[in-house]
Amino acid sequence: MLSGTKIFITNGTWADIALVFARTGGEGHRGITAFLVPTDSPGFTARPIHGKLGLRGQATAELVIDGVRVPDSARLHSVGKGFGVAMAALAKGRMSVAAGCVGLARACVEAAVEYSTQREQFGKPIAGHQLVQELLADIALDVDAARLLVWRVADLIDRGREFAVESSKAKLFASEAAVRSADRALQVFGGYGFIDEFPVGKYLRDAKVMTLYEGTSQIQKLLIGRALTGVSAF
Ligand SMILES: Cc1cc2nc3c(=O)[nH]c(=O)nc-3n(C[C@H](O)[C@H](O)[C@H](O)COP(=O)(O)OP(=O)(O)OC[C@H]3O[C@@H](n4cnc5c(N)ncnc54)[C@H](O)[C@@H]3O)c2cc1C
Repeated sequence: MLSGTKIFITNGTWADIALVFARTGGEGHRGITAFLVPTDSPGFTARPIHGKLGLRGQATAELVIDGVRVPDSARLHSVGKGFGVAMAALAKGRMSVAAGCVGLARACVEAAVEYSTQREQFGKPIAGHQLVQELLADIALDVDAARLLVWRVADLIDRGREFAVESSKAKLFASEAAVRSADRALQVFGGYGFIDEFPVGKYLRDAKVMTLYEGTSQIQKLLIGRALTGVSAF
């Protein structure tokens, strides 16, 4: 019997199966078990969440799990091993989020370069003003740095090595870089960046959530700090 609620679940209104972590006994992370639960199970409800700052093309749902019964065959991994399942999924998920951030930041540099070479002010393209070039250079640097951090994680995975901390570093840097890049790109567009005619405002709204899900930036820092010191600050 699974009870309780989960909120903010990506694709929650589209999914046929939900990965649910439930306490099956004991204290702390050892008492958690993972289940694959069909979303048409009696007692399972997915409600759309509206009014998001960004990611408006993606369905985010609140899942309500009220007295859902699942057979033992719905269990993923052993009883009490759910925390490990979650951590393994998060470690790779963080790399995926970081890779998406590289794409978003790259879109920012492409849009900003194109606009700045066409828009003219004070008798020349705004790309010819040094402070605009600074914005472009800063975005380009963030794109490259974030991409290299993602590639490092992918390389570790390919070689079967430990990658969780490197994935946290990539996710932390790339998500913050995506927000910085979208903000800088919007600045390059001036007032036009603030309206829907150009995509950079959307990039900024979409980037922010990357610093929140799959572990906030603060949580990534705690994971990195714990790996460095052996001391948990959670
Ligand atoms: C659009 C969207 C989609 C999502 N999709 C999913 C999904 O598919 N699956 C899923 O499981 N979750 C999903 N989430 C949830 C997301 O992972 C959480 O919102 C996120 O982990 C933060 O948790 P919270 O909102 O409860 O914030 P809180 O945990 O309440 O955190 C609030 C603030 O406190 C800080 N904080 C909390 N604890 C500490 C600490 N120990 N030390 C320092 N600072 C701390 C946080 O960094 C943050 O700044 C989604 C969220 C959004 C917005």
